[in-house]
Amino acid sequence: MTRPAPAIVILGNGSLATARSIQRLYPGALIHGLDERVVGADRTYREFGATLRELYQQDTPIIALCAAGIVIRTLAPLLMEKGAEPPVLAVAEDGSAVVPLLGGLAGVNVLAREVAAALDVSAAITTSGELRFGTCLLNPPSGYALGDLELGKRFVSDLLAGESVRIEGAAPWLVQAQLPENPQARLAVHVGHAERTPAANELLIYPRNVLVAVGAGVVDVPGTVREALHQAKIAVQSLACLLAADSEMSSPTLREAALELGVPLRFVDDVGAASNLMRNAIEQPVSVFGDEAVAIAVAKQPLDPSSIGRPRGRLAVIGLGPGAADLMVPAVKAELARANDVLGYETYVRMAGPFRADQVLHCTDNREEMQRARHAFELAAQGRCVVVVSSGDPGVFAMAAAVLEALHESRDPAWHNVDLEILPGVSASLATAAQAGAPLGHDFCVLSLSDNLKPWDIIEKRLDLAAQADLAMAFYNPISRSRPWQLGRALEIVALHRAADTPVVLGRDVGRPGQTLRVTTLGQLTPDQVDMRTMVLIGSSTTRVFARPQGSLWVYTPRSYGDKLVDIN
Ligand code: SAH
Repeated sequence: MTRPAPAIVILGNGSLATARSIQRLYPGALIHGLDERVVGADRTYREFGATLRELYQQDTPIIALCAAGIVIRTLAPLLMEKGAEPPVLAVAEDGSAVVPLLGGLAGVNVLAREVAAALDVSAAITTSGELRFGTCLLNPPSGYALGDLELGKRFVSDLLAGESVRIEGAAPWLVQAQLPENPQARLAVHVGHAERTPAANELLIYPRNVLVAVGAGVVDVPGTVREALHQAKIAVQSLACLLAADSEMSSPTLREAALELGVPLRFVDDVGAASNLMRNAIEQPVSVFGDEAVAIAVAKQPLDPSSIGRPRGRLAVIGLGPGAADLMVPAVKAELARANDVLGYETYVRMAGPFRADQVLHCTDNREEMQRARHAFELAAQGRCVVVVSSGDPGVFAMAAAVLEALHESRDPAWHNVDLEILPGVSASLATAAQAGAPLGHDFCVLSLSDNLKPWDIIEKRLDLAAQADLAMAFYNPISRSRPWQLGRALEIVALHRAADTPVVLGRDVGRPGQTLRVTTLGQLTPDQVDMRTMVLIGSSTTRVFARPQGSLWVYTPRSYGDKLVDIN
């Protein structure tokens, strides 16, 4: 239940020093700097508004080094919606002021005090309860859940109006607070896991110290869990996590039940043995409900679900796009942020960074694809969150097929139980085409010229037929030191069916530093203009070019053949 690391967002180099001081407080926090204004940020962004809103919607705590007004106006459209409300702080560029803006129940004041202490100023705390009592009663620490927010607000305003309070049960975090305590008080903070109807004069806080183990074959898991807790007189708010057997890992019923109950789902080899092991830490004996469908264990202290068994492992095969951060899809960014392990060819792993100190990088040679795929499953089967990176799209001459092949070959149920997802990226052919205009605007085909994994005859045959069929073509892996002659031969085959003035686009390192884009013709193209970092796009018979104002050319293939109905035989 630890919060994700905050994003520190800056608009200019002037705030970089302050940003760095704040970053030191939060391992994993990244500095997001405005592109072209900030040199040396961890991430760059182009649009302040879109970036801030995206972070907010992903529930990422935000520390923005700019005027509070800018942050308020930027996030205003999102505030009417229900949903995530992460802490949002505005910090003066020079570090002289720290203003908590949003996320009172998500710990913004705690964050503000930490940042302010590091900058040696005081935080602009405006929350009355917090000012008076030194803690936000409505935001208990992790491991505890507030019963009812609306009743809680009323409770705090009664306290602020001068009433005193009793504390029932164990509330170690309130020992430091400056609450007006009085054993005879009408108001009571009640901490406990017993099911209880909240009274108007009570603030109920539930320790999350209850574990429910669910057996196989329970149809209505949330209903059964609620009923079992009710019969045991335990509040559902005290449920810390659901536990199930490893063999149930891929069960959608359990996954949905955990989501509905709002608790993590953890797995162990043998549920019975696990509950027995837990007896030491258990206050109330395990109670079994309905033919052992569910078993309840109550611990003395709040439970940390991350220390119980393991979660269902996840393996995501992701596409980074060609290289530029703004061409990476948001789902891929989110996946990189949640990863425990990142596997891939070193160049791509580096491209996917920076990473936090707790993330493990497994860099391998580009050729060890099957080995990498198997390693990824081994890690994910242990319950880790694993990412395999590819450049461009993972399904285009990259890792997705290798990962599926490894799974298909495996009989290990633990591998098949992994939560596997393939997340797409912008492939090099599409990124190159977009820069040139729309050379792939009509039917086209994609070919790898590498004969490492297929016979050269097949490549020749496909080239011949694709050229005959008047398809525009995208060549991946066009040439390398070990494959020096293949491109020349490929071009000869294409030239049998296509005119010398057919437009050709060469994109090198597209979306990466030092990218180049060149428009030439089939007749002028020679293999020495191409290397393994180049994308080769060959036009069809209808592909056209025209001048851009700056002197370069637009290339496009019209969507229709119009009156140019060519005979493709
Ligand atoms: N999965 C990748 C392709 C991997 S094959 C994708 O979808 O883009 C590797 C080949 O892709 C390279 O030999 C080159 O032809 C092409 N390529 C990859 N990234 C490129 C880039 N940024 N610019 C130009 N070509 C690129």
